Formats: sequence, structure tokens, C-alpha cells
Amino acid sequence: MNVPALQRLLAELRQSGISDENVLAAIGAVDRERFVSAPFAERAWENTALPISFGQTISQPLVVAAMTEALRVGPRMKVLEIGTGSGYQAAILAKLARRVYTIERFKPLSKEAEKLLIDLGIYNVVFDVGDGSKGWPGQAPFDRIIVTAAAEERPQALIDQLAVGGILIVPVGRDPTSQVVERIVKTDSGLQRDTLMPVRFVPLVTGALPVLGQG
Ligand code: SAH
Repeated sequence: MNVPALQRLLAELRQSGISDENVLAAIGAVDRERFVSAPFAERAWENTALPISFGQTISQPLVVAAMTEALRVGPRMKVLEIGTGSGYQAAILAKLARRVYTIERFKPLSKEAEKLLIDLGIYNVVFDVGDGSKGWPGQAPFDRIIVTAAAEERPQALIDQLAVGGILIVPVGRDPTSQVVERIVKTDSGLQRDTLMPVRFVPLVTGALPVLGQG
């Protein structure tokens, strides 16, 4: 792990307002270089999104940090992630939660992420392939749910699978230039909603998979 580069990134995250020490420690414990392909490894510690396979991206570290902080994950919690991608966000969540369930629509991405996390000694993540906008009914309810692709509308199936007291973090917006991260808290008396920050995520794609992703 490139420790000086990691330290620089952590300092940048602090300067940008990330203050949860558990989140910063989790980011410090996961080697982001392992989640990007060789040509991008030297940029792994820059505060920037980078390409992964199938036209997808590993999110910007500040966005991962801010969304994870907003999720307020505790050590006994069961967390659902939609959009496994490289597995980086799942690895961060795995450091903070009891168990993480993560769904990806591209099977090769899911398999690669699963292999990498085992390689890194992270064993509390369960992987599934499919349309994550439907959630994971067999494992519901979840204490926390995080969507790492942009939904056109608030995904009702995910709200339904949230425990009372649970938090859902989801980027929402049809237009890539006007997405915002929303936080939805489920309480006894209904839903509380607030908006966290503008972001730019790849779309949450619902329905059938293209043939390319089925290998
Ligand atoms: N959390 C990832 C970022 C992934 S980018 C990381 O840390 O690297 C978003 C991912 O969501 C992509 O891999 C994309 O294929 C996936 N995705 C998009 N729509 C989806 C859906 N309906 N169900 C599951 N995964 C989806």
C-alpha cells in the first residue's frame, strides 16, 4: 500500500469535511490500488473516480467517504449495497458493519469483486447478481441500504426493505448533470428525507441484462 499517497488522500478527505474517524480508518484499511486495473493503479490515491470494466466506474473517494459517513453504519448492522462494481465500497462497508449484502448486474464484475475481497481477507460480504433495484427480499429488513448508481426515482422496493430506524442513501436524478444524493430515514411515523450533495453516478439500470454481461 502506498502509505504517503493514502495519507495525502485522508488529509484531503478531512479538509473536505469528513470527520467520522471510523470511516477514515476504514478507507485507510482498504488498498484502493487493488480495485483498479494496472493502467490506473498509480492514480488510485487521487480523489477521483476511475474506470473499471463494462463502462462502469469506481466512485470518487470523497463521494464514498461522504455517503458512508451519512449512512452511519454500526458494527452490528446488516447493510445492503446496490452496484458492487469493483467491490471497493463493499470492502469499506465490510470494515464497519457486521455483514454486507451486495448486488451487481454484471456477473463478471461481481465474481471479480468476490475473489478480490477474499484475497484481501474480507469475509463478511455476500454477493448476488441481478437487478438490485428490487433489493434482496430474502434477507430483508436491512439496517442500512446504499445505492451506488443513480436512480431515476426513489426505489420503493428498497424503502420497503429498510428496517424501522434504517437509513437509505441513494443518488437520484434523471439527468447526469443534476443528480443529488438523498438520505431517507425510516421512522415509526414515516419517512424523513434530506439532500446531501450533488454527484455524478452511472445509471441504475433496471430490467434485462445485455448479452455482454452474462458470461
Ligand atoms: N460501488 C462501486 C461503484 C460501482 S458503479 C464501487 O465501489 O466500485 C455502479 C455499479 O452499479 C456498476 O457496476 C453497475 O453495473 C451497477 N448497476 C447498475 N444498475 C444496477 C442494478 N439495477 N442492479 C445492480 N447493479 C447495478
